[in-house]
Amino acid sequence: MQRKKQQKIKNLLPGVKENVSLKDYTTFKIGGKAKYFFVAKTKNKLINAIKASKQLNLPFFILGGGSNVLFSDKEFKGLVIRVKNVKFKIKNCVINAEAGAPLPLLVQKAQQNSLSGLEWAVGIPGTIGGAVYGNASAFGKAIGDLVKQVEVLDLKTFKIKKLSKKECQFKYKDSIFKHKKNLLILSVILRLKKGNKEKIKENMKRFLTIRKETQPLNYPSAGCIFKNLKSQISKVKIKKNLLRKFPELRDFIQKGEIPAGYLIDKAGLKGKRIGDAMVSEKHANFIVNLGNAKTKDVQKLIAHIKKKVKKIFGIELKEEIIIFPH
Ligand SMILES: Cc1cc2nc3c(=O)[nH]c(=O)nc-3n(C[C@H](O)[C@H](O)[C@H](O)COP(=O)(O)OP(=O)(O)OC[C@H]3O[C@@H](n4cnc5c(N)ncnc54)[C@H](O)[C@@H]3O)c2cc1C
Repeated sequence: MQRKKQQKIKNLLPGVKENVSLKDYTTFKIGGKAKYFFVAKTKNKLINAIKASKQLNLPFFILGGGSNVLFSDKEFKGLVIRVKNVKFKIKNCVINAEAGAPLPLLVQKAQQNSLSGLEWAVGIPGTIGGAVYGNASAFGKAIGDLVKQVEVLDLKTFKIKKLSKKECQFKYKDSIFKHKKNLLILSVILRLKKGNKEKIKENMKRFLTIRKETQPLNYPSAGCIFKNLKSQISKVKIKKNLLRKFPELRDFIQKGEIPAGYLIDKAGLKGKRIGDAMVSEKHANFIVNLGNAKTKDVQKLIAHIKKKVKKIFGIELKEEIIIFPH
């Protein structure tokens, strides 16, 4: 039975690999093996891979640059499809990019074409598809602000659809794609503005310097583990004695955003370590892999952080990273 499936998938997806270590495909450098692993270099190959997994009744996972995921240490008995369709075109102020196009390359090409709007995204790893999925954001800007249209494959009907920015329902670190699992992002159209090439470069440099100064970029990580508190902020009731102890909280509440890193730091968790997973000393919302961290270590650390922050501040932190399987 197993052999039959193996042969079938090989016939349907020439080039499919077996028993691939997922840690090699994530920026966290954590994760077990995938029974099957396929790199889809074109839109058609991406669609075929989905069709094959459906035909064989095989669970699948869509992987972009692997910079926002934590895979389980256990074997995934399905198919990981790595989105590697990387072509893009720039015309006037519009970038039309396939889902697998690396975001860092688009940021660089936008600058070279005197296009402004993506400067803030410098230093964010991964693909444009992954960025749109999670509405990647930094320095008060988000990718969703630039989206004109997203081409998707509806996995229920196998029809290709074009979603407007409004239909993508972008919110802070959120989009329709996080909720409707049947939507595979095939390509993205971004609209930027004409700008000054040198000024754009300067701004990028400034953002990159801030990242280097504030983020632990010398260790593997998946970026920020938790979302900052934004939409739920109106529901947050902080006790008076806490506001006295942590006066910055009042400013954060007034500005409408409490950074998760601030709460973790004030909970005294910088440097807290479980196995080789550690809360970064440099940025408390980063968990870094000191070498041989296991998924369990990271999950235990996440649970510990949530418990402690809840106990001290009464605030429930929510994960930003995608944990698979959940
Ligand atoms: C050092 C560092 C700094 C970071 N800084 C930031 C930051 O400033 N701001 C920020 O927002 N994030 C940041 N991140 C997190 C991460 O880089 C972004 O969220 C990035 O946009 C994820 O893209 P990806 O291609 O790596 O997605 P992946 O991690 O591969 O996937 C993330 C999710 O998207 C889904 N997905 C990917 N491609 C598709 C597709 N084509 N169709 C449907 N679903 C898809 C996956 O199934 C998964 O659920 C940082 C990460 C690191 C390591």
